[in-house]
Amino acid sequence: NNILELQGVSKAYNKGKPTEISILNDLDFTLATGEVVGLVAPSGAGKSTLLHIAGLLDTADAGHIAIAGVDQSGLSERKRTRTRRQDVGFIYQFHHLLPEFSALENIILPQMANGVSKVAATDRARDLLNRVGLEPRGTHRPAELSGGEQQRVAFCRALANEPKLLLADEPTGNLDPETSDTVFNALLDLVKETGLSALIATHNIELAGRMDRMVRLERGQLS
Ligand code: ADP
Ligand code: ADP
Repeated sequence: NNILELQGVSKAYNKGKPTEISILNDLDFTLATGEVVGLVAPSGAGKSTLLHIAGLLDTADAGHIAIAGVDQSGLSERKRTRTRRQDVGFIYQFHHLLPEFSALENIILPQMANGVSKVAATDRARDLLNRVGLEPRGTHRPAELSGGEQQRVAFCRALANEPKLLLADEPTGNLDPETSDTVFNALLDLVKETGLSALIATHNIELAGRMDRMVRLERGQLS
């Protein structure tokens, strides 16, 4: 039972031009349901490219991507967008929270956009903030929160619509090492508590070592 399967995935940029650069080369990867995997790679190796393709934000030149057993390759853009919104949660290095809304509102709004009632969305947002120790900060806007707090709110937002798959790209890469350590543990606790399947990219091998398994991206392939 796999939440994510990549089979023979290839991706190049600037195809057909002198500047063509192959990033992913016939890459295979399987993420079992409930598994939390660390993705380690030097900068520029193609981590973001891989996560964007896995999360249907970008398309591969070749290969198959299946999410929850459904091959997305032949599906229309509309269906891929629906899968992305319903099944996939993203976390980036920068929080990308809406600055004019409170922490709670940032977690409530995506749920309401998905048809959840305001009352139910508020309950879930409070519960998520509570899990990362931030319930007392719910009414604060992002600018009133520390970097680590902002990032924890972004984790809650990524989980707001109960995704099946979480993809995180250097989720604490923007924080100082000490804060990064604590906030990374908060993310792992949250993921484990909710039983989420996750692929989490980091260049920090020590952090990656805390996950169920670690894979390395090198020369377009995972090992
Ligand atoms: P990482 O996340 O591992 O740092 P990326 O996936 O962001 O790596 O990028 C991998 C390589 O592809 C880099 O050399 C980057 O400059 C290049 N690249 C990324 N996106 C594009 C693009 N849209 N067009 C051309 N080259 C790109
Ligand atoms: P850190 O020590 O993590 O860098 P800060 O020193 O920025 O955090 O903030 C310490 C605490 O004060 C944080 O919990 C943060 O939420 C709160 N705080 C910071 N700035 C404001 C603000 N403008 N309004 C309300 N609370 C704030």
